[in-house]
Amino acid sequence: MLARLQDHKGEWDIVVVGGGATGVGVAIDAASRGYSTLLLEGSDFGKGTSSRSTKLVHGGVRYLEQGNVSLVMEALKERGILRQNAPHLVGNLGFLVPNYDWWEAPFYGIGLKAYNLLSGKYGFGPSKILSREETLEKIPTLQRDGLRGGVSYYDGQFDDARLLINMVSTAAEQGATLLNYVRVTQVLKNREGFLRGVVAFDEPGGNQFEVAAKAVVNATGPWTDGLRQMAEPDARKMIAPSQGIHLLFDRSFLPGDTAIMVPHTSDGRVLFAIPWHQHTLVGTTDTPIETATLEPSPKAEEVDFILKTAADYLQKPPTREDVLAVYTGIRPLVKAGNTGKTSALSRDHTIHIDRSGLLTITGGKWTTYRHMAEDCVNHAATLADLPERACITRNLNIHGFRSRSEQRGHLSFYGSDALHIEMMMRADSRLAEKLVPELPYTAAEVVWAVRAEMARTVEDVLARRTRALFLNSQAAIRAAAETARLMAQELGCDEEWQTRQIGDFNEVARHYTLTGVEG
Ligand SMILES: Cc1cc2nc3c(=O)[nH]c(=O)nc-3n(C[C@H](O)[C@H](O)[C@H](O)COP(=O)(O)OP(=O)(O)OC[C@H]3O[C@@H](n4cnc5c(N)ncnc54)[C@H](O)[C@@H]3O)c2cc1C
Repeated sequence: MLARLQDHKGEWDIVVVGGGATGVGVAIDAASRGYSTLLLEGSDFGKGTSSRSTKLVHGGVRYLEQGNVSLVMEALKERGILRQNAPHLVGNLGFLVPNYDWWEAPFYGIGLKAYNLLSGKYGFGPSKILSREETLEKIPTLQRDGLRGGVSYYDGQFDDARLLINMVSTAAEQGATLLNYVRVTQVLKNREGFLRGVVAFDEPGGNQFEVAAKAVVNATGPWTDGLRQMAEPDARKMIAPSQGIHLLFDRSFLPGDTAIMVPHTSDGRVLFAIPWHQHTLVGTTDTPIETATLEPSPKAEEVDFILKTAADYLQKPPTREDVLAVYTGIRPLVKAGNTGKTSALSRDHTIHIDRSGLLTITGGKWTTYRHMAEDCVNHAATLADLPERACITRNLNIHGFRSRSEQRGHLSFYGSDALHIEMMMRADSRLAEKLVPELPYTAAEVVWAVRAEMARTVEDVLARRTRALFLNSQAAIRAAAETARLMAQELGCDEEWQTRQIGDFNEVARHYTLTGVEG
């Protein structure tokens, strides 16, 4: 990628700042239209919100309840497109809304029927009102006291960081240049005050460089205002950050393949309990915060809220001792009515052009990243006077695409890359060894992440190329030394590097344990 950067002469058509779902989506769209595209990510791809979602590819049942039909329809369509283009990563998951009140079955029954009808040809399956017996058959661990029955429906589920890494490969295959650990530190303007490029700092290389751009896209999620204020120090803030946490438990809390959806918790939020990578994932919360940090911490009241609500719905209430990991993500919520010139193309995401010509895309959700990117690149092309070219991402397969879902255990998430990893394990049996007994990840995946997926740190491998840190933080901490050793071999690094990496990883991993809980 650095060689691609050096070989590029003159201005880039589009420079994207931020390597989350939004930025990488824009890079795929721009490159596949034939625009020269550079993406700069200050940390690792997906280090921000995009690795910390609830792992749902969904229309948002809650928006339907708020009457926002067009938003739900758009997201349901994108859900279908994403499953079509990345079937190795987007699955169809059964959900159940348990009913404890008499009115819930007809109310949610009608609502979820509408949800399925709105998806039209992109439907995932019909909803159904279930008896108490049928409900318990699907989820035997449900709280039985007062249970009347349930409503079942279908929605999409995915592995967010793995999809993102495959999207980075897709963008690269389409000709984009994407760099992780390269932070934009300054913007460059011409005499008229219009943006002409950015200054970036390459952390591993320790050097600063300038790039010239016809259009600069700000896709920095919760850090949107930071970049906008680099361009215009008096720019009014448009993001109100809010954090959400998830807790991970073992599979025994939800042993089947059906998820629980609680549409109204005690404080009016939606809560999910989902089977994910042979574990149980429960979340989320919505807590306004002052500033967005790269490694946010869960708050004690958030942990208590999730444990308490889960206890209302599960026969065996989960306790703090059962928590295998916790993770925190920050929503880049756009403040209503605060952005004078904002052209809200949909109620979900926002595209904003500052006086300097900085094009910001933010809000929305993972599910709609492709549609957001299409809107954004249309705007960027007009702004930069690029030749008009049609978007092709509706039918563009994501790297790893495999139409037949084969039984390859956890390796099936790699799609067509699973074959390469299996071959590595066959050629060298040491690579088939697991990193830790509790998790399925092997030495081969560490080597693969370094060779093929731009992993530079132990955290990149254990948090985002595999999901060890998100599934079981203590097991991930135990896997760090072997991961560092394998990476050092690949990267030609010494023991000092390994020691530093293990120390850095332990520092980050603290945020994924309950000892890192604030307040
Ligand atoms: C708790 C929670 C649960 C969610 N669940 C779902 C869900 O189930 N389904 C769904 O569809 N959506 C979900 N979402 C929404 C979805 O996760 C986000 O909309 C999406 O991930 C936002 O992606 P992004 O690329 O805009 O931001 P991010 O992923 O945060 O990416 C921004 C990137 O910009 C980088 N950056 C910042 N400053 C600079 C700089 N100066 N130079 C270079 N790089 C920089 C950061 O390092 C970061 O990687 C959820 C969100 C939250 C918070």
